[in-house]
Amino acid sequence: MKKEKNFGDLVCGFYSFIGVVAVVVELCCFILMISGFETEMKVKLFGIELESLEYHQAKLYWERGNPMPKERLEIFYTVMDSLSEDVTVEYSLDENPTDFFYLTEETITRLYEIDPGNIAFARGGEVFLEPITGSEKIDDGLFAMILVHEYVHVIQYNHESYLNEYAKDVGWKEEIPQAEENFYKVLSQYSLENPHEDMSETYMFSYLCGNNLEALSEARIQHVEDFWGIPREQYCQNFH
Ligand SMILES: [Zn+2]
Repeated sequence: MKKEKNFGDLVCGFYSFIGVVAVVVELCCFILMISGFETEMKVKLFGIELESLEYHQAKLYWERGNPMPKERLEIFYTVMDSLSEDVTVEYSLDENPTDFFYLTEETITRLYEIDPGNIAFARGGEVFLEPITGSEKIDDGLFAMILVHEYVHVIQYNHESYLNEYAKDVGWKEEIPQAEENFYKVLSQYSLENPHEDMSETYMFSYLCGNNLEALSEARIQHVEDFWGIPREQYCQNFH
């Protein structure tokens, strides 16, 4: 004979099930919390299903099924640590929350008109990373520098006067007279494109210990020192 469950049994069963689920969810949250980041779902941003994680004041988004490779994620965390802890407070990640989007090429081209040669770019307070930045074509050091470079663009967006000060100090004018030798003391040709790229390139190169900054003009070196706020040997990184 079949024993019918009464309503009370069903209710008890339901609540103990919910109880178990709640404990599991809390446990997962706790593990994620102590490991320093949390993962969450963001449904339909740009009409695409995105997942994200938070680390310091950075939020990293990726398309469901296309996450940033694990080894790359480790570099991402290291750079976010530096931007958070080693940069002068005003320009630190803590004070300038930044969203990073690691998107597939198809999505980036669908959403933005960008130069095919671009591997990363910043728009306002957001940084977009092309999938090549997750591949072996870009080594760890370059990937770290790309993150610093784009983050500096975000800082320029948040602090226009800081960019203007940099531009004035290093010698940007309507027309640069050939005689101003110091102005041309940069580490890449791209620095001479405009003040934005000059600043991003200069700060980016300072992040890797192996890069020799001696070729930089005195004004640029001074700005690098002011940005990081601690001696170079304490913030610079070596990646393999
Ligand atoms: Zn740039």
